[in-house]
Order: sequence, then structure tokens, then C-alpha cells
Amino acid sequence: MIKLRSLLILFLLLLVVLNLSSCATQKPKLVLFISIDQLRYDYLTRFSKYFGDGGFNLFFKDGANFTNAQFKHSVTKTSAGHAVISTGTHANVNGIIANRWYDQEQKSSVSSVGDDSFTLIASDRDGRSPHYLLAATIGDELKRSNGEKSKVVSISYKSTSAIMMGGKDADAVYWFVDSLFTTSKYYLDELPNWVKDFNSSGRIKSYFGKTWDRVLSDSVYSIQGTDDVEVEDGEWAGLGRTFPHTVDGGSSSITESYFMAFRFSPFGNELLEEFVEQAIFNEKLGQRDAVDILWVGFSSNDWVGHLYGPDSHEVMDMVIRTDSVLEKLFDFIDKKIGLNQCTIVLTSDHGIPSLPELIANKNNAASPGRINREMVTEAIDAALSEKFGSLGSAESWVSYVSPSNIYLNRIALQKKSLSVSEAEQIVLPVLSDMGCFHALYTHSQLENGEIAGELGERALLSFFPGRSGDIFFQVKENWIFHGPTGTNHGSPWKYNTHVPLLFYGSGIKPGFYEEAVSIADIAPTVAHIIKVDMPEEVQGKVLEGALK
Ligand SMILES: [Zn+2]
Repeated sequence: MIKLRSLLILFLLLLVVLNLSSCATQKPKLVLFISIDQLRYDYLTRFSKYFGDGGFNLFFKDGANFTNAQFKHSVTKTSAGHAVISTGTHANVNGIIANRWYDQEQKSSVSSVGDDSFTLIASDRDGRSPHYLLAATIGDELKRSNGEKSKVVSISYKSTSAIMMGGKDADAVYWFVDSLFTTSKYYLDELPNWVKDFNSSGRIKSYFGKTWDRVLSDSVYSIQGTDDVEVEDGEWAGLGRTFPHTVDGGSSSITESYFMAFRFSPFGNELLEEFVEQAIFNEKLGQRDAVDILWVGFSSNDWVGHLYGPDSHEVMDMVIRTDSVLEKLFDFIDKKIGLNQCTIVLTSDHGIPSLPELIANKNNAASPGRINREMVTEAIDAALSEKFGSLGSAESWVSYVSPSNIYLNRIALQKKSLSVSEAEQIVLPVLSDMGCFHALYTHSQLENGEIAGELGERALLSFFPGRSGDIFFQVKENWIFHGPTGTNHGSPWKYNTHVPLLFYGSGIKPGFYEEAVSIADIAPTVAHIIKVDMPEEVQGKVLEGALK
């Protein structure tokens, strides 16, 4: 009898040991990637004392916090940033050089997610697909190895982030267009009933006329300076320059302008979070035998940041409210799946510079400024017309200027029997004299790798032959490529490249990690946790120090 009992105890002990060891090697049930568009790293330190327990603090208390994670590329734009996050490669491999570029064959600018072959469902806006993305995302690789067993779903307010994160083989990719969540026929033939129900629920219209005011007492926001700054963009969709902001699109009834005001407010994130909960519930994400991936892109932070800048009361309020939205999402996931069953990654696609006029007020020596497409085009037109003769009043020597690429007009060059390099010899010194560019590189210099230095390396990572322009530029520090109000990202300076990189949950060793790491390290690190092979071309590395 005693023998039998000790055998039974031994057997039970063995079961416990086996169970423990399988826990240690267990893969998460859900990998949740969160990208908060335009979230600078310093927001997390500057506003941390206003955060609750369960949002950003989930990572600070029990997660891994990489305090020096940066994008390594030059063109710090939404599509490019999200492609780095999801693929672990840069534009020189994945082809996503910016949000838009110029296609010499189509003779027009194209969107990084534009595709006329795949129309949207329930919307007549331009078609979308990931066909310009030339590298596999971690979700694509998971689907390749696990097939139907694993689900990959990507959700964002913007198509650029949703598609770049979801990649080619996601089961579903949703983004918001005008007044509804939709997708393109590339991903689905029809919207699932739960999405249709969400769209017809009247949720988005219920915010009409709501007031966006500071969530904490006004005095708390004085760390950001004054609320009213002249060069904030107060004209957008009737939002105005100062608190409180009324989200009605400047009209007494619901118009297109209301939907613009809505997404430029914290209510955009609230709606997205509700949609994400519905996706987890209806698609049963993290509730099967294999690992699922869910990408979530909060976009409203970016839109607010563009209008008011990083030193505004509005951006501070957005970050504090985003913390609450995260807490709500994490609570939901904890109840539905269990947070300890998940691996969560939080990062951003780029940062943002201060309004140049505010920099000038603080530091005259910084000599900040603004340039725009028209100024660049006018300077090139004047120089080339003076040298080679006018093209006629309606024509320009320039086909397109994106935030980092200048595309010369090939038809105009042909008309004057000029080569691209002959034109460049005239254009480059003129651009240089404008005083706003840190560096100017020609397409052939980049193609031949005739570039040196850290910023030169960044330019090379943002270069893709055929998609990049004839001339690539980097604006000087504290300069922005933008209109007369608000601010913009896109340059290779630290305020654009330094973003949060936070990990939590299954497979993660908590702690603060100060070494310099790349955002391209995210995909290979998570691939290691869920035991998925990433392709050879991946440029990031596994962050082994933060792994259990
Ligand atoms: Zn932006």
C-alpha cells in the first residue's frame, strides 16, 4: 500500500515537472503588435506620472523597455516605418521608400498601398493592396508555416499602416474609410457580419458634436507651455487652435468634415479600440491551439501631432488618453485570453519635430525653418529655364516632389535634349544655396553606394532603384517639409527616429535595456519567440538579452 502511494506521488510529481517545462517553452497564444502613430520616445518619460496602472505601466512594471530604439532609415514616414516593423527590413529591401512616390511609367504619383486591381468593399475610394511591399512580414511567415491553424489580422485607422503591418497573407486587414471600417477585395470578398454590424451600429455618428477637452485639470498641461500657439493648424475641420475642441466638422449636421474632425481627435482611438475588441471576440483570436497575430495601429495620435506639434496640450492629452485606451484593451484581453498567454509589442512608426517657430523662440542658433513642394519646384524651374530656355508657362521641369525625393520631368528633358545628369549639375548647387538641406544625393550616387557617414547610411536604407527620385534630399535639423502651419516628420533626425520599443508577456525578460537597437529588430525577435523562420534578407537581429 505504501509502495503504491509513493508511486502515485512520484507520478504526480512527474506530471507537475512535465507541465512546468512545457510552460517554459510554450509559445504565446496571441502576439499583439501595437503601433501608435507618431509616438516619440520622450512622451513616455515626460508624461509618465499621469499614466494609470494598466496601460504603458504594464510594460514599465513587468515588461522590457528599450530606451534607445531607433529607426535606421532616413524617410521617417508611416508606410516606410510600418514596413520596417512588420518585415525587419528597410526600403532598400522591401521597396517602401515613403507613403507616395512617382511612377515614371504611369506618369503620376502612386500610393504605397495603391492598387486599381483591388477595389474596396462598400466604398468607391481608390483600390488598395500590399503589392508594392516586396518583403515578407512576420505574419506572412507564420501563415506559411502554420497555414489555416494561425490567424493574422491587422487593424488600423489608416490603410498605410494596416496593410504594411498585415502584409500579403493576412486573413483580414481592416482600416477606416470615411464613415466605416472596410478592406480591399485583395483580402476578402465580403465584410464579415460582425464588421457590417459594427459599421451600422451608429457608433461613429454618436460622437457628433462631442467636446474634446483636457482629461486632467488645465494647470497640469502647463509643462507643455501655452495652449494657444499661432502656427498650430486651427483651421482643420473646424477643430480650432485651443481647448475645448468641438468635434462636429464645423457644421450643425454630419458632413465629410465631421469624419475628418473625428479621426483628428482622441475619439478615433476609442472607436478603433472597440473595433479591436470585436475582432478578438468574433475572430476568436488567441483562443485556439496555434499562435495568432493581431496588429493594431492607432492613427489619431499622428493626425493630432501634425496639427498641434509635440509641445502642445493636445498631444499631451492624446498620450494620456491613449494610456487609458491601452488599459481598456489589456483588461479585455486579460479576461478573454489572459495577458500571460500573450506577447505584446508596443512601438511607433516615427516621431515628430517641434513647430519650427517654437524652436526659434527657445534657441535662435537652431535656425529652424519650413520648405515645401512649391518652393523646391520654383527654384528648379527658375534655374533650368534660365539655363536651357523656358518650357512654356503651363509646364514644369519637375514631375513630383515627395518629402525626400525630387523627380525631374523626363518629357521636358527630352524636349530640350538634356540628360538627367546635365540637369542635375544645374539643379544641385541651386538647391544647396536654398540653405535648408543637410544633404543632397543623386539617384546614381545612391545606386553606386557613393555615400558615407551615418546619415548617408540612412539615405541608402531609404533608397530603392526605380522608385526613388533623381535627387534625394535630407532637410537640415529643425527644418520641416510642410505648409505654413502644423508640423511634419520624414527627416532622419532623432526627434523622428527615436520611438518606444516595449515588450511584455510570454517569452520576455523584464527590464530596462539601454543599448542602441533598431526597430528592424522587432520582427526577428518575435519570430524567435514564436519559432517562425524569417527570410535571410532580414536586416534586424534577435534581441536575445530581453528573451527568457
Ligand atoms: Zn504623420
